[in-house]
Amino acid sequence: MAGAYATEAIVLRSFRTGEADRVVHLLSPTHGRVNVIAKGARRTKARLGARLEPLTRIDAILQPGRSELAVITGADVLWSGDDVRRDPLRALAATAGVEAVVRLFPEPEPDERLYRGLQRFLEVLAGSLGDDPRSMLDITTIGFVLKLLALAGWRPELGACVRCGLEVAVYDAQAGCAFCGGCGSGTPLSPAAAVVAGRMLTEPLGGGIAASLQDRREITRICRATAEAHGNVRLALLGQGSTAAG
Ligand SMILES: [Zn+2]
Repeated sequence: MAGAYATEAIVLRSFRTGEADRVVHLLSPTHGRVNVIAKGARRTKARLGARLEPLTRIDAILQPGRSELAVITGADVLWSGDDVRRDPLRALAATAGVEAVVRLFPEPEPDERLYRGLQRFLEVLAGSLGDDPRSMLDITTIGFVLKLLALAGWRPELGACVRCGLEVAVYDAQAGCAFCGGCGSGTPLSPAAAVVAGRMLTEPLGGGIAASLQDRREITRICRATAEAHGNVRLALLGQGSTAAG
């Protein structure tokens, strides 16, 4: 088949279209964001269609088409994502993370770190959640979004007031950094939450960081404010799983 190529990919979203087709949005480590059509996918549910559920990681065969959509002609499942999709809390966390990927990285260019980061995020969501699943899912999702913001070039500077070095009190999303109460203004940020956010930015996802509900709410607000100030992006789903950040 002329022009066909193979790539690993994670299914971001999937929509019904036409009689029996599905449009599938993929993220590939080597081809970036690729939108494909799976012809007859709903008719052949036992075959291709079942392998194209959101969150599934696949080896795909893609055929560039005449339209913007490539045609997906084959897929082998590398990781099914079943454990995440079957559990409403895990699925909600995954949806918030995928939403952040889609909105913060709208360009089609490939980014291997983005791809492996999403893979890691989904694998952590599928794993053991300890005795407080809501907190663990929340910490994982917020940590992932912070890492995405850093990858997009908007890493929040939260260590200390950038002007005088005193303890942080506020976060200025436009400036992308924290200030003490005397030097700046912005979203309220406690020193404890700033320490947790710093650890989330530097430590691997799923590494067992503890964060109180208050810390999580503050960091969620920082993530949202940063995405809005720099990407003009609204992260509507972040924090809706358990913290319901106000
Ligand atoms: Zn200061």
